[in-house]
Amino acid sequence: MDFGISDKMQTILKMIDEFVDKELIPIEHRFIKEEFRDLVPLLKEKRQMVKQMELWGPNIPVDLGGMGLSLVEHGLVSESLGRSPLGHYVFGCQAPDAGNIEILHQHGTAEQKEKYLKPLAAGDIRSCFSMTEVNMPGSNPVMMETTAVKDGNDYVINGQKWYTSSADGSKFAIVMAVTNPDAPLYQQASMIIVPTDTPGFNLVRNIPVMGHSGSDYASHGEILYQSCRVPQSNLLGKEGLGFVIAQDRLGPGRIHHCMRWIGICNRSFDLMCRRATERKITPDGKTLATRQIIQSWVSESAAEIQAARLMTLNAAWRIDNLGTKAARDDIALIKFVVANTMQRVVDRALQVHGGLGMTDDTILAYFFRHERAARIYDGADEVHKSSFARRYLTRYQK
Ligand SMILES: Cc1cc2nc3c(=O)[nH]c(=O)nc-3n(C[C@H](O)[C@H](O)[C@H](O)COP(=O)(O)OP(=O)(O)OC[C@H]3O[C@@H](n4cnc5c(N)ncnc54)[C@H](O)[C@@H]3O)c2cc1C
Repeated sequence: MDFGISDKMQTILKMIDEFVDKELIPIEHRFIKEEFRDLVPLLKEKRQMVKQMELWGPNIPVDLGGMGLSLVEHGLVSESLGRSPLGHYVFGCQAPDAGNIEILHQHGTAEQKEKYLKPLAAGDIRSCFSMTEVNMPGSNPVMMETTAVKDGNDYVINGQKWYTSSADGSKFAIVMAVTNPDAPLYQQASMIIVPTDTPGFNLVRNIPVMGHSGSDYASHGEILYQSCRVPQSNLLGKEGLGFVIAQDRLGPGRIHHCMRWIGICNRSFDLMCRRATERKITPDGKTLATRQIIQSWVSESAAEIQAARLMTLNAAWRIDNLGTKAARDDIALIKFVVANTMQRVVDRALQVHGGLGMTDDTILAYFFRHERAARIYDGADEVHKSSFARRYLTRYQK
């Protein structure tokens, strides 16, 4: 196992770090206070700069105009970009588009690639992924009410989804729907491409999440599919293989998220250390950093971030070299370890800032609000713990 960073990657990471510091962090206050849709023109300019620097789409294959990095390399980039909530969007590797690009690249037909993948990879359009349902447990997605019934050459889709992140302004959704109700449970659902201007695709609302409904990319939609008719040629891969395709997307997506969270940890840790050394708490000028409890938070955070980071890079290396299946346990473990590490580190950083931490004058309150979801999406902590332990314990069963 070799996590040595090549000279080329070191240069790339340095360029990205500088870009995040110079071009993104200074506009974050606008991202927090304004509607995302109002920032789109400015972010388009930033994306253009990224393209000119040839840093667009670190995870996107070279033939689609991206950098085609390995998972370990993309993980390192994701860490740098994660320091700002704008990083992934501006570099063209934001969820859920990143996952949808992967699915379309691996399973799309020539026509689907031309129509959907090319403009998506170029950043000309956005997309969303519509699986979770209002009335069904997302933790057990085989329990699905949404159906896609064949009628002539079409599928007719009916169902109610929510948390279709970034649906607002997306050109198409990849929808999971039951196409084969009589098949075994894991072979009942398929992925179908639904252009969002199809009659019957209804964005009911952007769900208020932690007090903010958001707009455009920064939103989570509730979607009502009402007799929504699309041609059968919009099926992705084979019928009934929706969950198999979803599994394919799991490994890289997990590394992407976990390293982004490490980036959030790094930024929060940096803010915590700065504040601790600057904030004077006694008349003779002693700072917070002189207090043992703060020192303890600094040490614990440093150790926890390093452990979570190495665990994630290890998982990325195993996926790169041994494949997703062999890395299944690593992929489950990093999900809850890194999400909880991030939550603790952000919380400590916020606490060190006192009242300032609760304001939007630093990025910490934003991280605190929006990254709580990390323990829920992409599989809740409990589900990953339970599935890992079940697999692991079979080794001991006689
Ligand atoms: C910010 C955000 C963005 C999202 N983006 C998308 C998206 O783009 N597309 C999409 O399709 N979905 C998305 N989701 C949905 C997400 O995948 C689901 O919320 C998640 O899978 C959990 O499903 P649920 O909300 O139905 O919770 P439930 O399945 O009802 O579970 C509720 C809680 O019960 C516990 N629990 C569940 N099962 C078990 C178990 N077996 N053992 C022990 N405890 C258990 C867990 O604590 C869990 O948090 C997003 C969610 C959030 C919060």
